[in-house]
Amino acid sequence: MLSNNAKSSYGRSSPLWATSQNLPPPPPPPPPPKTLVGVEQAPSRYEAQKRRDWNTFGQYLRNHRPPLPLARCTGTHVLDFVRYLDQFGKTKVHLTTCPYFGLPQPPHPCPCPLRQAWGSLDALIGRLRAAFEENGGKPESNPFGARTVRLYLREVREMQAKARGIAYGKKKRKRPPPAPTSDHAITIGGGHVVNANNMQVQQGMQPGT
Ligand SMILES: [Zn+2]
Repeated sequence: MLSNNAKSSYGRSSPLWATSQNLPPPPPPPPPPKTLVGVEQAPSRYEAQKRRDWNTFGQYLRNHRPPLPLARCTGTHVLDFVRYLDQFGKTKVHLTTCPYFGLPQPPHPCPCPLRQAWGSLDALIGRLRAAFEENGGKPESNPFGARTVRLYLREVREMQAKARGIAYGKKKRKRPPPAPTSDHAITIGGGHVVNANNMQVQQGMQPGT
């Protein structure tokens, strides 16, 4: 725009812009944030989290006794990993025997265990499932897509929804009354501690803990 003004006001004694011609040029746009990878876009939070999750799972496998190569990892191992993560959870899940079972906001603390929230687990499994295939795994052998994992997540969702009085899945159509699940309910309280030396995994998984 200065060039237009310069043309139109050429030769005038005191063009309006004359007093501001020494203004510094506009600051250049800020450089894009540095990225760990060489792509032109910064990795999304999803991508970054996915990478962290994948590293955490790899660490879990390396610490596994007996050794557990990724190629031999099954849905059952994934569930071991997921249950292992429960010890770092921050979501109170009331036992059915707790007087606050089903109350979203209990008036007093209770000794019920803390677990990983279903939403966190669901997102985690989704990221790991994608990462598995991005790292060369075949879709048909993806342990994170195993039926047992899907069933487990569904159980966790229903159990936590009941325990906390929260209705998940509002976006979906109304679900029919819950079918009895006791015959195939998965015990969330299993809490397998596969490896006592878990500090690194804990840090990788729950930075704020
Ligand atoms: Zn409770």
